[in-house]
Amino acid sequence: MRKYDVLVVGGGPAGSSCAYTLAKSGLKVLVVDFKRKIGTPVQCAEFVPVQLFNSFPEFFTPESISQEVDNMLHFTPWGETVLMNSKGFVLNREVFDYHISQLAREEGAEYLLGTLFVGMEGPKVWLERIHTRERFFVEANVVVGADGPRSRVAKQTGKHTKDFLTTAQVRVPLNTKVKDLLIYFREYIPGGYGWVFPKGESANVGVGIDPAYNMNVMESLKIFLSELLKEGLTGEKVLSRTGGWIPAEGLLDVIRNRVLLVGDAGGFCHPITGGGIANAIISGTMAGKAIASGKLSDYEEEAWEVFGTTLERAAKKRKKYMKRWDNLSYIIPRTWIAFEEYWRED
Ligand SMILES: Cc1cc2nc3c(=O)[nH]c(=O)nc-3n(C[C@H](O)[C@H](O)[C@H](O)COP(=O)(O)OP(=O)(O)OC[C@H]3O[C@@H](n4cnc5c(N)ncnc54)[C@H](O)[C@@H]3O)c2cc1C
Repeated sequence: MRKYDVLVVGGGPAGSSCAYTLAKSGLKVLVVDFKRKIGTPVQCAEFVPVQLFNSFPEFFTPESISQEVDNMLHFTPWGETVLMNSKGFVLNREVFDYHISQLAREEGAEYLLGTLFVGMEGPKVWLERIHTRERFFVEANVVVGADGPRSRVAKQTGKHTKDFLTTAQVRVPLNTKVKDLLIYFREYIPGGYGWVFPKGESANVGVGIDPAYNMNVMESLKIFLSELLKEGLTGEKVLSRTGGWIPAEGLLDVIRNRVLLVGDAGGFCHPITGGGIANAIISGTMAGKAIASGKLSDYEEEAWEVFGTTLERAAKKRKKYMKRWDNLSYIIPRTWIAFEEYWRED
């Protein structure tokens, strides 16, 4: 039987940044992930603000950056174009996530891939090898739930996120060089927005919608793609497809006895914008430091101090504005501008 100081469930940016911090402090850490390779497949539009690079330069390599951007260009349904400064990078997330996991490994963290977290029973954490379905357990003093938006760790230990945005995304060729992030507000993308995030000769093109509305996410993406095609911005060929869930209700209780939740598992993703990579890394690092110092409660305090109010406000704002979503011209600029302020605060 294997025994660890900390078991981290999930090797995304939240889990690996946490494991990196813990291993650097000399703790014995195991990361389990059902993926066979950390970072693959990617379910993300891949934009991070420059502030993340400034705070965690070691997590970036030249290969993990696909394109630098300076601005975010918004297209409103009433024909207005709004340019906002938004310095940052569109990543190659498969490289980015993998690199953080390598840093954690170099510090001594162990990774067990192709392995599913099943549940907890006293000090035992039950795991299952995906291919053989073999079940076994390890023991850990602390468990970190970094298992993404539909976190099983959160579900098994208390409240879990129920309110999500649903997304659909494709990679398509660009007909022209795009140097900014493009954001489209459209009535056929209810409760969310469409994005074109450039990666050199191609772009991540997707939509995130509120499932409470009577709009199918695939249908919404189809209409968005035909608009872009008509505009002549993108080519027809779909290079790849992805999608996923975005937590949209704000922070959960992030400490449950010896279990800590980080990243999307803890609801750290921004409920309006869907931006969650930076928050995943910040929360993972915060949790790692609190565990290493032996003061778990520091994590809850700091997480609420840094993120709690902003995310709570954003979640409320989203709900409030959802009811009046017919009044797009009023709602969108107010909602969106709050998002910009949020990044600036970081
Ligand atoms: C379409 C889309 C576009 C997005 N675009 C952006 C963007 O441009 N910028 C941005 O900042 N954010 C974006 N996000 C959000 C961002 O992807 C997440 O906030 C971020 O990945 C959260 O990191 P994480 O480490 O918490 O979770 P994840 O990256 O989801 O990692 C969780 C890991 O846990 C593993 N796992 C899950 N369950 C188990 C289990 N039971 N056992 C073992 N392993 C498990 C998974 O395999 C995964 O590797 C987007 C999300 C979507 C869906």
